[in-house]
Amino acid sequence: MTSRTGPAPRIDLHTHSTASDGTLSPPELVRAASRAGLDVLAITDHDTTAGWEPAVRALPPGLRLIRGAELSCRWSGVQPAVPLHLLAYLFDPDHPELVDELTRVRAAREERGERIVALLRADGIDVHWPDILAGAGGGTVGRPHIAQALIRAGLVGSTGEAFGPDWLGERYRLPKEDIDVFHAVRLVRAAGGVPVFAHPRATRRGRVVPDELIAELAAAGLAGLEADHEDHSPAEQAHVRALAAELGLLVTGSSDFHGTHKTVQLGAFTTGVEAYERIVDAGVTEVASG
Ligand code: AMP
Ligand code: ZN
Ligand code: FE
Ligand code: FE
Repeated sequence: MTSRTGPAPRIDLHTHSTASDGTLSPPELVRAASRAGLDVLAITDHDTTAGWEPAVRALPPGLRLIRGAELSCRWSGVQPAVPLHLLAYLFDPDHPELVDELTRVRAAREERGERIVALLRADGIDVHWPDILAGAGGGTVGRPHIAQALIRAGLVGSTGEAFGPDWLGERYRLPKEDIDVFHAVRLVRAAGGVPVFAHPRATRRGRVVPDELIAELAAAGLAGLEADHEDHSPAEQAHVRALAAELGLLVTGSSDFHGTHKTVQLGAFTTGVEAYERIVDAGVTEVASG
C-alpha cells in the first residue's frame, strides 16, 4: 500500500471484538472501523482466531483486514513470572501446535476466572460464574467480563474501577497458565506469523520486562514492538521507539480498542505504512480486502 498522493493510510493493528473481551461483534467492529475512516484494521482477540471469519465476511468496501490475535504469555526469568501480551499477525490458524496452545490458554482463563469468582464469593460478594461465562457469549473469557458482573452487582461504577487494587487489579488478581513467551515467539514464526510485543512498557498496568529480555526475544524471532498505545506515557513511547531502532525491530501504534469496555476509540493510535508493509511481507496469510 503506497499512497504517493493524498493522505497517509490510517492503520490500526490492535483491536478486540466479542470473540474475546471487546463489546462489538466482528461484523460490527469492521463496520465501525470503516466509519472511523480506517484503511487497515487488525482484529487481535485474546487467544483466539474465532472472530476472523465473521469479520472477513462482513468486510466493508475499501477496508483491509489483518487477521491476528493477542497471545497471553509470561516471562519466567523472575518470580513470580511477568505476564505479557504478544500480538501475532497473519499466521496459519490451523497450525496444530498453535491451535493446541490457544485452546489450552482459553481453558486456563476459564479455570482462573472461576477461581477469582470463588475468592469474591468467599468474601460474600454475590457474583456468579455461570452469569460471567454467559456474559462472554462464547468468546475468550477475561477479567473485563468479571468486571461487568461487579458493575451489574452495583459494587463498582466502571471497568476502570473494577481493575483497581481493591478488586481485579490486585486483591482478586490471580495468575493464569500463560504461554512461555519464547515458545510463543517461535510458535508464531513456525505458523508463518509475525510476532509483535504489545504495550511492552506499560508500567501503569503492572510489572514490565527488562530491555535485555526484549533483545533476547528479538534474537528468537520477535519482529516488532508496539510503541504508541494509551498505556504508554510519551517517555515510554519514546523509549520503545529507541529500543526498536537499536534492535532493528518494526514499530507499531494501535488503539487496543475494546468497545465500551474501555474509553479509547478506533484509530486513537496508528501504525506507519512501512511497518505495515513489513508485517504483510513477512506473514503467510493474505490481507483480506473488502
Ligand atoms: P485478562 O486478559 O483476563 O488478564 O484481563 C486483561 C484485560 O483486561 C486487558 O486485555 C484489558 O482488556 C483489560 N484491562 C486491563 N486493565 C484495565 C483497566 N485498567 N481498565 C479497563 N480494562 C482493563
Ligand atoms: Zn482485553
Ligand atoms: Fe494487551
Ligand atoms: Fe489488547
